[in-house]
Amino acid sequence: MRVENISERVLMVDLEPSDTPGWLATYVIEGDGALAIIDPGPKSSLRALERLTEMLNPSRFEEVYAVLTHIHIDHSGVIGDLLELLPCARALVHPRGVKHLIDPSKLWQASLEVLGDVAGLLGEPRGAPQERVVSLENGAELDLGGLKLRALYTPGHAPHHVSYMLEPDGILFAGDSVANHFNGRIYPVTVYPFDGSEYLKSLDLLLKLQPRRIAVAHYGVVGEPEVFIQRARDKLVSWTHHIISAIEEGASEIEDIYRRILSRDVELAYAKRLEDSMPAFRGATYRVVAGLYNYLRDEEGACALASLDRWRSARDFINRSR
Ligand SMILES: [Zn+2]
Repeated sequence: MRVENISERVLMVDLEPSDTPGWLATYVIEGDGALAIIDPGPKSSLRALERLTEMLNPSRFEEVYAVLTHIHIDHSGVIGDLLELLPCARALVHPRGVKHLIDPSKLWQASLEVLGDVAGLLGEPRGAPQERVVSLENGAELDLGGLKLRALYTPGHAPHHVSYMLEPDGILFAGDSVANHFNGRIYPVTVYPFDGSEYLKSLDLLLKLQPRRIAVAHYGVVGEPEVFIQRARDKLVSWTHHIISAIEEGASEIEDIYRRILSRDVELAYAKRLEDSMPAFRGATYRVVAGLYNYLRDEEGACALASLDRWRSARDFINRSR
């Protein structure tokens, strides 16, 4: 288990879930009397969380929070087990996530459909006790004893996504709201049911916050937040144009579009190569292209990210060639 100080009172922890180091970062904030664990990970991170708990000695803290950016099982799947491990802890989540933490059966079904075998690797979540799951209002501030954590709704990657700004450190915990980041290569996490219009609005909001650093779930801490956010936005626009061009040229299968983007985007190609050595990451690059394609199929989606006229002509073309 790799543990690193990213500021005086914030740790970055690689829980290496599903034998996949370097893929998912969990962040631990130690305030005066309050402890917060941001995105404790999937069920398969439980053993590492047990070791982390021994290291942190949570009985020193009056308040213990498991704070979720969103409920995708790679971020939240361990929550039922973690609340058992930490009997004083409460889980904090967007109001739309509450019922899925208490009864994760639908979440699990959706995960099996979207992730396939990878869902099995991450593990089936168990339910959290209702009285220990707390919903977060937009703008809510959590007092962590000398530190403040503010919740900001940032839909796009998921409709219930929340990012968190830590002051005075100026660290933004962005979950999956901006991009994935592996060794300097980035790409937006446009998995189903991605909403491009909401995503762009969320990026604008995050830019206005002027964070000093951004801590992302997959993976690590990024300096130069403005550059990072702009690169994510540019990449989304570039993928959109690749998809439209592919359709104009007659591609009708997502596989063809995926291969086309992979051959033109060295950053996505880099992430694709990582899939071979990261079991929990398998199929991830295909899912982002399929998710964006799915969003663009809808006219409003196409309008939000590209010119609607161009999209219509591409769509008419594909319909004529069927
Ligand atoms: Zn996610």
